[in-house]
Amino acid sequence: MAKYVYFFGGKKAEGGEQLRNLLGGKGAGLAEMVNLGIPVPPGFTITTEVCTLFYQQGMKLPEGLKEEVLENLKRVEELMGMRFGDPKNPLLLSIRSGARASMPGMMDTVLNLGLNEETVKGLAELTGNEWFAWDCRRRFVAMYGDVVLGLKPESKEEEDPFERIIDAKKKARGIKLDTEFTVDDLKDLVSAFKSLIKEKLNVGFPEDPLQQLWGAIGAVFQSWNNARAEAYRRLNNIPSSWGTAVNVQCMVFGNIGQDSGTGVAFTRNPSTGENVFYGEYLLNAQGEDVVAGTRTPLPINKAQKTDHSVASLEEEMPEVYRQLLEIRSILERRFKDMQDVEFTIQRGKLWMLQTRTGKRTSFAEFKAAVDMVREGLIDKEEALMRVSPDGLNQILRPIFDPKEINKAVKVAKGLNAGPGAATGKVVYNAEDAESWAARGEKVILVRAETSPEDIRGMNAAQGILTSRGGMTSHAALVARQMGKVCVAGCGELDINYRTKTIKIKGMTIKEGDYISINGSTGEVFAGEVKTIPSEVLRVLIDRTLKPEESQIYQDFDSLMKWADEARRLGVRTNADQPDQARVALAFGAEGIGLCRTEHMFFEGTRIDAVREMIVAEDPEGRKKALAKVQPMQKGDFVGLFKAMNGLPATIRTLDPPLHEFLPHGEKELRDLADKMGIAYERLAATVAGLQEANPMLGLRGCRLGILYPEITEMQARAVFEAACEVKKSGIDVKPEIMIPLVGDVNELKLQKDVVDRVASEVFASCGMSVDYKVGTMIEIPRAALTADAIATVAEFFSFGTNDLTQTTFGMSRDDAGKILRLYVERDVLEYDPFQRLDEVGVGKLMKTGVELGRKARPKLKVGICGEHGGEPHSVKFCHKLGLDYVSCSPYRVTVARLAAAQAAIEEKRGKKEAD
Ligand code: ADP
Ligand code: MG
Ligand code: MG
Repeated sequence: MAKYVYFFGGKKAEGGEQLRNLLGGKGAGLAEMVNLGIPVPPGFTITTEVCTLFYQQGMKLPEGLKEEVLENLKRVEELMGMRFGDPKNPLLLSIRSGARASMPGMMDTVLNLGLNEETVKGLAELTGNEWFAWDCRRRFVAMYGDVVLGLKPESKEEEDPFERIIDAKKKARGIKLDTEFTVDDLKDLVSAFKSLIKEKLNVGFPEDPLQQLWGAIGAVFQSWNNARAEAYRRLNNIPSSWGTAVNVQCMVFGNIGQDSGTGVAFTRNPSTGENVFYGEYLLNAQGEDVVAGTRTPLPINKAQKTDHSVASLEEEMPEVYRQLLEIRSILERRFKDMQDVEFTIQRGKLWMLQTRTGKRTSFAEFKAAVDMVREGLIDKEEALMRVSPDGLNQILRPIFDPKEINKAVKVAKGLNAGPGAATGKVVYNAEDAESWAARGEKVILVRAETSPEDIRGMNAAQGILTSRGGMTSHAALVARQMGKVCVAGCGELDINYRTKTIKIKGMTIKEGDYISINGSTGEVFAGEVKTIPSEVLRVLIDRTLKPEESQIYQDFDSLMKWADEARRLGVRTNADQPDQARVALAFGAEGIGLCRTEHMFFEGTRIDAVREMIVAEDPEGRKKALAKVQPMQKGDFVGLFKAMNGLPATIRTLDPPLHEFLPHGEKELRDLADKMGIAYERLAATVAGLQEANPMLGLRGCRLGILYPEITEMQARAVFEAACEVKKSGIDVKPEIMIPLVGDVNELKLQKDVVDRVASEVFASCGMSVDYKVGTMIEIPRAALTADAIATVAEFFSFGTNDLTQTTFGMSRDDAGKILRLYVERDVLEYDPFQRLDEVGVGKLMKTGVELGRKARPKLKVGICGEHGGEPHSVKFCHKLGLDYVSCSPYRVTVARLAAAQAAIEEKRGKKEAD
């Protein structure tokens, strides 16, 4: 028979980190800590397999489980010298969920289980502390009522029903803190809780400890499928088949008095990644108090203190703090990663209750990864694998403009829970955040505290601001993980959900008013505050900061260098103008993969010449107009080649349908007719003649150049004259001329002939020559399918995956938005193929194209220049296809470099595994 239960405690655990899938993250972590000699209250883990069986068997626990649980319970009793349900010496338990991947706040925990009207008295006598015993009892009844019996708030505006009773009691007694309750108050609370349960659910509170135990175990398994757990799984791609484990553990008490307490800590700062111990604690409290935000916790050490009137744990309990530091380093050495731990101190003795990989900002992820390489904890490859390419973009995110900040009205300061700067309109609940964002508003979600129900709203907001809770509150954890700007625990804010206002320092901030928050400092400003570029951008692009003045830049630079060492795929950029090219080069681009020449046609007055060319009635007229455009195009290319400084530049000949350049309104048409000195009617007729039913599939791409070879000729001349001029000035040039929308090799041949002829003419007249290539875009399926023929002429391929996706799906990308959103929602497609490359369909055409192309021309250079070239999954796919490079927009270049490195490392690791 399968083993359903794994014991941990004393000196040895039956499980450990290697059984994470079976024991869940929490269970595996507890077992591993036991094996490392760290003090952990004993207990046992019911496996995730039991959860799966529970659902398979129609919500029934499997046979044999009961016996195993009772046997393990006995081991805990023996180790502790206490008995579960013993009226004199009662063992109390905590029942904790724990999935394979950590799901903070998603699944519920029940503490102090085993307390009833009898055992509570035993506990009071045993500890000589009646207050403590009743504090545990009232917590237990409320938690059990909430988690197991399901008594939760009924609507968004409503408070937790148990909290309401507590608040009313505090008001009646004129006190603020839970710790100010008297024993009688606590007893009253318990009766009030029980009456509430009776009234709402018509059941008595279960007094039998074993009944409590099975109720709680069942509830944990059921909570795996509650709405908030499902929402979290969907957001984080966690399969529902994984199931959760249940941990049953002996209770330790942080609420026995001032020599007891509880806390949470990160082995490094989870916002900034700095290598400093970071945490919070509360004296005389139970674990959930720190996370729930009901009392604002205190800093764990002196380094973290901002307020001198409070005492840190380091000062309060130096010996415990020293032990924590030791455990911190044991855990980091074992897990080789930042850990997030929970601990409780019972009468001066430290117990560890949890360790897991700490949720952190992408910023901290990056910082810690680079540091850990320097500390020798991990190697460069591991560091590269840890940083998410999209997350790396967080480092490039804007911060508030210091000049604007001085003018802004600072209204409050909270905790810097999620770095970055955000500004937006205030909304007071998650649903509004979603609906406002859906209509294009930038919003800041303001809540007293957040809960898992708010996740979708948090995702939709620019930033999150809460008045309660610490660095480890729900809002802070989730925001960090989502990469959201977050200020938490801003206690000065008086938030009123009903009137939808914040009162602060005599001001009232209403729904829809602007607010700005700085998640790096915790500051809150009324109104809208402008932002400026990040440090990395100021070093690389604006050059207003020296590299040696920015640690962030130096760390960034190290990581990117490691990425360049690891990757095989080249990274180019899509840039049309010299300034864009310079930005991309600063980010590490190795060339231009796509220069869209038509963008140059719109600049200044040249659009007039372009329009003249289009409406010209014969080649002569066209040549006259082109002669005006040519010197300007040449100037563009000179600038571009100079900016590239010897790196290759792929220049695409004119691509879009001509009507995109034409004037449309009558007034515009009349103006143009005047300028050209022709009759309005004549011009209008010409323009009408150029109308097409499906311009995207009409006269565009190489078809234009075939119909009007003068255009290609003019562009080629501009490129080669510029190339010769720049080369003469001593700068190397590598032009690559790319013909768009080819579907048949003969189309390419016709265009290549024009280009080659112009090249030899220009070289003859300049008395020099320049190396160049002529290649094609592969962007319609027929090109991919006949790539062997095309490669006999093309010297390179570049997959234009925007058009290739459009033509493969037969779906216009300008109209696809609506359809695809629906498709993704309804699981017709897993993702939007215009954002992430469709590997199955479009990818198959690419694979065919690469294979056929290289069969005909073994050294054929192949790249990609669609938007996908900057999307990490797509970049990895391009690596697998054996492309030579990806090309993406300048601000995605670093993303692509990192993704390319990860693809190479994954391939290497995959090979090792296969060996
Ligand atoms: P979560 O997964 O939401 O963090 P946990 O199971 O870790 O839930 O527990 C919730 C709170 O209860 C934590 O603060 C934890 O420290 C505390 N807790 C859990 N087990 C025990 C125990 N055996 N003794 C004392 N406190 C506990
Ligand atoms: Mg926990
Ligand atoms: Mg195209």
